Amino acid sequence: MAAVLSIIAVILLAGALFFVTQKIPDEPPPPPKPPSTCTGTEVTVEGIKSLQKCQVEDLLRAVENSKPRQFTTTAMCYSVGMEEYAPVSYVCPICGSRTQHDGGTAKRIKENLYDIRKSFYQLYQGSPLKLDLDESSLCSKCSKGTNGPQEKGQYLTIYYADGTIFTKMIDNARELDALRGLLEEREWVRDKNNEAIFIRDKTYDLRKFLDLPKTGEKN
Ligand SMILES: [Zn+2]
Repeated sequence: MAAVLSIIAVILLAGALFFVTQKIPDEPPPPPKPPSTCTGTEVTVEGIKSLQKCQVEDLLRAVENSKPRQFTTTAMCYSVGMEEYAPVSYVCPICGSRTQHDGGTAKRIKENLYDIRKSFYQLYQGSPLKLDLDESSLCSKCSKGTNGPQEKGQYLTIYYADGTIFTKMIDNARELDALRGLLEEREWVRDKNNEAIFIRDKTYDLRKFLDLPKTGEKN
């Protein structure tokens, strides 16, 4: 219980110390979309209701071909909260068992677990891409006997319509927020600190994140 309270305290403290105000004008009408990369040769697996890789590629190319806009940052001030990573007790949402974690895993849980869950939930709702978030590697009971990942954490699985399945560990919620922005064809989304994430600045990271060819330039 004490561990859980301290996690909440750290989250609240970190949130309270981080203020960013950005003036963002209304979104302009979207630019004309570049020709599709979908050739029609990609196989869609029956029963998987998801996007094809080339459809996600199209979304990325549209963002990459858009023109950047100027934004004014009116005020920015933040300080970093306490960094203390005592062992944490992870409560599994599937089976309810508790698992003690320390070191890097404790740090990851304290800093990102709840934010990743929240961002995943926002992304998952209405996502045209079939997704799954798996935390079982963090639970000693659920991971017992399974050939789970070496590194304990939260893993996102993307199921493309062509049957490609891609799994990766999520380091922070901003990756999920950026993906939500891309899929919703938004110019920007807000992260947990109310800071704007511009999708145009994230195309390089998104290509890596989505296991797509890295043809985009880092902005
Ligand atoms: Zn469990």
